[in-house]
Amino acid sequence: MTAQSLQFSSARLIDGTGAPALEHATVTVEGGRIAGVYPDGAPVSAGALEVDLRGKTLMPGLVDAHVHVTAFDMPAALKGQQAIAPEVRHHLIAQGLRRMLRMGITTVRDVGAFGDHLLHARQAVRLGAIPGPRILACGRIISATSPGGRHFDGMYREADGPHEMRKAVREQFRRGADFIKIMTTGARSCELENSSPAQITGPEIATVVEEAHRMGYRVAAHCEGLDGTQLAIEEGVDTIEHGLELHRAPDLLEELARSERVLVPTLSCFFHISENRASRWAPGLVELAHRQLEDAHRTVEAARRTGVRLAMGFDSQPNGQSALELVRLCQAGLTPMEAIVAGTATSAIACGLADHVGTVTSGRTADLIVIDGDPLADPELLLDERHIWLVVQAGRPVAGTALETELAGLRGERPEPDPVPALAGRPLA
Ligand SMILES: [Zn+2]
Repeated sequence: MTAQSLQFSSARLIDGTGAPALEHATVTVEGGRIAGVYPDGAPVSAGALEVDLRGKTLMPGLVDAHVHVTAFDMPAALKGQQAIAPEVRHHLIAQGLRRMLRMGITTVRDVGAFGDHLLHARQAVRLGAIPGPRILACGRIISATSPGGRHFDGMYREADGPHEMRKAVREQFRRGADFIKIMTTGARSCELENSSPAQITGPEIATVVEEAHRMGYRVAAHCEGLDGTQLAIEEGVDTIEHGLELHRAPDLLEELARSERVLVPTLSCFFHISENRASRWAPGLVELAHRQLEDAHRTVEAARRTGVRLAMGFDSQPNGQSALELVRLCQAGLTPMEAIVAGTATSAIACGLADHVGTVTSGRTADLIVIDGDPLADPELLLDERHIWLVVQAGRPVAGTALETELAGLRGERPEPDPVPALAGRPLA
C-alpha cells in the first residue's frame, strides 16, 4: 500500500534547523517523503488529503540518540505467584516501542542492549509486526575486560589489544549492528568501575575507529573521565556519549566544535540515579551521580558557548519519555528552539541520518509530529500524550490523539487486577 498524499495547512512550522518558526506554513507529503514546504501556504493539490493545523505545531519526529530500549526492570512476581517467563520481555519491549512512537519518537539509536532482543525487535518493527520507531542498534558494546563486562552480562563484548578489538568490531557487523559503541572509560552505574583513567588504550580505540570507518560504520564512545574522553576525541570517534567532564577541557570542546562532532550529554541518566530512583542504587553511586549531574550541567553550558553540536539522549526509563531530556536541556540553558534542534536535526546527525530525517525539508522522509499547542512556549507539551496530536512515520499517520476515539481518555493501560479470579475458568472437578 502506498502512503496517502497529505497536505498540512496553516501550521506553525518548526523545521528542526533552528530557523525561526513559520506561522502559516503548508507542508506536503507524497510517497512517504516531504514533497514541499511553503512558508505562506499553498493551494491544495489534487488528490491530497488536507489536514488543517490551525493552532497546532508541525515539527520533525523526535530522534533519541542515546537509549537502552531493553534495559527496563522486568516486573517481579510476588511470593506464591507464577514466575514471569523470560519471553514476556519481548512483549514488554514491544510495549515500550509502541509507547515511544505514541510520544512522537520516530527514530532511536540504541547504545547497548542485553543479548539480541533489541535486534529482534528491530526486525519486527521493520516487518510491521509491531509499531515502533526506526531503530539503530550497536549489537554488543565493545569494552576492555572489566568489572562492567561482568556487571552488564550479555551487553558487552570484552576485547583486549588491537587484534581482539578489530575482531570484536567485525562481530558486530556480523550480528547486524548499525554502528559501533565502545567504552573508553568505566561506567558510573557500576560500583567496581573507576571512570577517571581511560579503560582502553589509544591503539585499541584507533583500531576500532579505523575498522568501523573503513567499513562505513560510525562509532559512539562512552566517555566519563577526561582521559578516555580525550582519547576518543583524538582517535576520531563520531559521537561522545555523556562527556560530562568536558567543561574542564575547553580545548577538547573547541576540537569537537571545529570537527562538527556531536556530544550527547544524557542529563536524565544522572537525574535518574541521583533523584528518581535513588533508593534502588548503591549510596556511593547516588552521591557520585549528584556530582556528575553538576558536571554535566556545566558541560552543557560550556559546550553551548563553544558551539558544540548537542543531541538529545534520554538514557533512562521509562521508554517514551525522551522529551524529558529536551526539557532538562532547557533547564541547563538551551533555548526551547535549541533543545528542539538537539532532539531532531542534531540527533539525526548523531545517528548518521541527517540526509533522511530530523528536519522538515523537501525530499526528507516524512517523519513528522503535530503538537496541539506551541512547544517553543512550553516544551513540556512534548511530554504530554494528550498534546501529541499526530505522529506521521514515513508519510503514514500512525499515532496521536487525532487517531484515537473521543473516549480514549477512558482507556485503561493495564487490565490488572482482573476482577475475574485466576482459577475461575477451570472446569469443576
Ligand atoms: Zn547509556
